Amino acid sequence: MPLVRFTDGDALRAWTLARRAAGQTVGLTPTMGALHAGHLSLVRAARAECDLTAATIFVNPTQFGPGEDLDRYPRNLEQDIALLESAGCDAVFCPAVETMYPPGAATRIEVGPAGSVLEGAIRPTHFSGVATIVLKLLNLAPANYAYFGQKDYQQTVVVRQMTRDLNVPIEVRICPTVREPDGLAMSSRNVYLQGEYRRQALTLHHALQAAQHAYAAGERNAARLRRAMEAVFAGEPQVEPQYAVLLHDGGVEEAHGELTGPTVAAVAAKVGPTRLIDNQLLSPGEPPA
Ligand code: AMP
Repeated sequence: MPLVRFTDGDALRAWTLARRAAGQTVGLTPTMGALHAGHLSLVRAARAECDLTAATIFVNPTQFGPGEDLDRYPRNLEQDIALLESAGCDAVFCPAVETMYPPGAATRIEVGPAGSVLEGAIRPTHFSGVATIVLKLLNLAPANYAYFGQKDYQQTVVVRQMTRDLNVPIEVRICPTVREPDGLAMSSRNVYLQGEYRRQALTLHHALQAAQHAYAAGERNAARLRRAMEAVFAGEPQVEPQYAVLLHDGGVEEAHGELTGPTVAAVAAKVGPTRLIDNQLLSPGEPPA
């Protein structure tokens, strides 16, 4: 079956509701396009679990702050659609900005404390924009499941909180981060990383690996694990770290003292003009190669 393409929200909703009325399950993967293997892994997860999969491609202006890269964010619609088709996606929604935000649209989701630390401290309106567009997309495509990447860990926390708080009838699925062979987390923004910046970008992964190695070797002191990450950043002074923290898994609360439960190491840094984020759930098993 060829991929069905929608630009109109009502048509997308009619398609989704008709499929569900016929007893089929639908999985939704929201994206901003410039698709890579990380996005396609979400589509595959949806295919594995659902009868039908839909993806959305929309560079959402409300999640960009002033001076951020909204205007130059990579856009490649025709290639994205070909990739979705080859991944077996059934429908794609690629609306215009005026479709999602017609003149006069004013309501925004206020996400609470989970959206005001870490990324939210640096990008104060970001998660309000994310939660607003995710809710709008879920209203237009009332799917059974929605798929998000662990790569944007704080986003998963905010989306889970929003769907719970607002009684959105969807099950949120979180899929593992897909990486380049050398460990760099795939991101649409990696196209900005030319030359030396591409090498420097690996510092985020190396910092997380340092925490993972120490954790696998038995280290459970949060301050020492954090210092292991900071030491990696200190060895690459061209890279500007913004945070390197340990979080209780499932939320954005920082872990202090001796770690007892599942813990996520999360980092953000500027590599030249490009901000990158990455994270890793610390595993007591073997350190990764
Ligand atoms: P974006 O297009 O950057 O808004 O991302 C759309 C979805 O893909 C989000 O749920 C992201 O977390 C997810 N995603 C982005 N990069 C990766 C990756 N490297 N691995 C897995 N999921 C990803």
